[in-house]
Amino acid sequence: MSDQVRENLAEANSNGYRQDGPGLSRRSFLRNGVTIVGGMSAFVAALSPLRDLDPDDVPSLEGFIQKHYKEMDPLEMQVALDRIKGEVDKRFDIDCDIKDIRPREGVEFVYALNLSRCVGCRKCVHACVEENNQSRSPEIQYIRVLEMPRGTLDIERGDHHYDKPTVPDDEHFYMPIQCHQCANPPCVKVCPVEATWQEPDGITVIDYDWCIGCRYCEAACPYWARRFNFTKPELPSEDVNRSMSYLSNRPRPKGVVEKCTFCLHRVREGKLPACLEVCPVGARKFGNVLDPDSEISQILQKKRVFVLKEDVGTIPRFFYYFDERYPRAGDADAPVDPMRESILDGEGR
Ligand code: SF4
Ligand code: SF4
Repeated sequence: MSDQVRENLAEANSNGYRQDGPGLSRRSFLRNGVTIVGGMSAFVAALSPLRDLDPDDVPSLEGFIQKHYKEMDPLEMQVALDRIKGEVDKRFDIDCDIKDIRPREGVEFVYALNLSRCVGCRKCVHACVEENNQSRSPEIQYIRVLEMPRGTLDIERGDHHYDKPTVPDDEHFYMPIQCHQCANPPCVKVCPVEATWQEPDGITVIDYDWCIGCRYCEAACPYWARRFNFTKPELPSEDVNRSMSYLSNRPRPKGVVEKCTFCLHRVREGKLPACLEVCPVGARKFGNVLDPDSEISQILQKKRVFVLKEDVGTIPRFFYYFDERYPRAGDADAPVDPMRESILDGEGR
């Protein structure tokens, strides 16, 4: 399985599923649009319906004519960061730190989740919301934890609204789902303006200044990993995580899509994702699959890992596995995990 995993990822990378530069872009759309209306003044006049909107929902002119992320040179990026910092500081009355953090050479991130360990506490869900500055009202969550009946991997039978005084219970196991950072991501292919793309370290990102809110990507994702801001995200100033990056946790406006980025602003600086750090039972593992000695590489080699919806060909970088033995303690005499047996040996898939 591990060789197959590596082969799939390598093949996906060499087949050019990653995109190297914008083709049809919002910028070219704008350029053509401006030409057609015969000048900037007519173009601005064409935007007059926006006068009826909440001023906070209307992008600044600088933001609106900003280049695509991949086209900006370092100076243009700095101008963009300064503009965004000014807007965020004003909106929340804070002093934020916002950077553009690029991928590192020789790194491809992969996640693995041990289903024998997860207890369904949802601490990962809430740590993610706090780290990534998601809206608190309505609350937007990137991680969905499914309560699954034992003996099946049919996620249609999972319940993510479970609400009970204690978890886990004996009848269920728990399956967190978030963006799988697919090597062949359908969400990227359907975006008409290339506002979303896959980075060289495998993380699929969104430029919130480029997203037009069409939600094609949300419909294309087989893992329900994207979220749309139907209303202006509400985030109290005192809850804002002031350490931000352009492509991940900077505050989003109404009308754009967002998703998990494996905490890009943390992992590209050598830290771990917030969801992993908070997990009380060590169910979450993460690292660089290109380093053969990393824990994540060892897990892919030694555990019987599997992916969700393998048949749809997305080639996820998010794997699941079970421990050999049950209960969860490392007791060598413990019985073989019956859930693992029933699911991985074919009865419940
Ligand atoms: Fe795109 Fe969904 Fe795959 Fe994430 S899980 S990369 S949003 S298709
Ligand atoms: Fe499972 Fe860990 Fe998330 Fe709790 S924090 S739901 S144990 S993965």
